Amino acid sequence: MKKKQFETEAIRTQLNRSEFLEHSNPLYLTSSFIFEDAEDMRASFSEEKERNIYSRFSNPNTSEFVDKICKMEGAESGYAFATGMAAVFSTFAALLNSGDHIVSARSVFGSTHTLFTKILPKWGIETSYFDINKPNTIEDFITSNTKILYAESPTNPAIDIIDLELLGSIAKKHNLILVIDNCFATPYLQQPIKYGAHLVIHSATKLIDGQGRVLGGVTVGNAKLIREIYLFARNTGPALSPFNAWTLSKSLETLAVRVDRHCENALKVAEFLEQHPKVNWVKYPFLKSHPQYEVAKKQMKLGGNIVAFEIKGGIAAGIKFLNTIKMCSLSANLGDTRTIVTHPASTTHSKLADADKLEVNITDGLVRISVGLEHVDDIILDLEQALNS
Ligand SMILES: *Cc1c(COP(=O)(O)O)cnc(C)c1O
Repeated sequence: MKKKQFETEAIRTQLNRSEFLEHSNPLYLTSSFIFEDAEDMRASFSEEKERNIYSRFSNPNTSEFVDKICKMEGAESGYAFATGMAAVFSTFAALLNSGDHIVSARSVFGSTHTLFTKILPKWGIETSYFDINKPNTIEDFITSNTKILYAESPTNPAIDIIDLELLGSIAKKHNLILVIDNCFATPYLQQPIKYGAHLVIHSATKLIDGQGRVLGGVTVGNAKLIREIYLFARNTGPALSPFNAWTLSKSLETLAVRVDRHCENALKVAEFLEQHPKVNWVKYPFLKSHPQYEVAKKQMKLGGNIVAFEIKGGIAAGIKFLNTIKMCSLSANLGDTRTIVTHPASTTHSKLADADKLEVNITDGLVRISVGLEHVDDIILDLEQALNS
């Protein structure tokens, strides 16, 4: 049968119906599954049969969620985790041995950076960072021990774009495993496997749930690599709960329409900010003024829901802005129906040295907005009154 369109797969990929012919999928809250007899049990454990045994290994709701993400990303197989960080950690822990080396963009999610600097070194795994402003230096960091090339695009919180095609060609030339955290883009806006990524990771907590309810993560991609990740996870226990898998699979049915509106609102917010006198600059992938606008257009369907801008007046102005916001939330999450504003220099990135902040394009006045699904006029009104106060 012809491969269906993205939106159709997101809705029509579902488990076989039970005897009750339910329309929406049931929730399989069961920790284990039963065997017909000793022979069935033997064949299941020896993996001659592909079937559910125990929900740490697999569960129907989890499998349905993974199956959808695989179709959306063009991946061969995958495994779902309790959180995005469980997916990131398990992917590295499963594939790397002591002495192996990672080359990563310096701008990565905060906990991923802590993983590279504090946790993986305990097992002799070191990471070198390339400067996202100097992509032509990436190859300089590759050594004979390098096994994984890692990046996120768009980056957090500065919304820089990294050329996935370039990363794909470097990974191919040096025989590296290219791993992309595709969380900010979602599989709807960007599919890194097309550009040569071997594995794609998502924090499903963000736009995939999209409603600020559950945590989840997933890694999909090359079947041989996923098999190693599966064996690691099956024995170490970071599995996604069936309830969260059910919730996330339902959320995927509306991912395309939600993300379309998120992006439409975000572009309008970015255009509003760009002409405001209290704003030095705005970074949004689909604004012509974005330094990597052409790359963003090449690899993304729309610009995403995160807008970064620099408020005039540095740290003090950033703090005042947060304190005068009325409707938008101050929260650590992103990709929610509710618009969220953060000020990295006084919060998440306050411990970084000035030089490190600049390398990841974080300035004192940088504000990050995760644009939600409220009416865009109300979002803009709130931002405007805070900027003008
Ligand atoms: C939030 C996030 C993570 C971690 O996901 P959790 O579900 O919070 O564990 C990883 N990468 C990126 C880019 C994120 O935004």
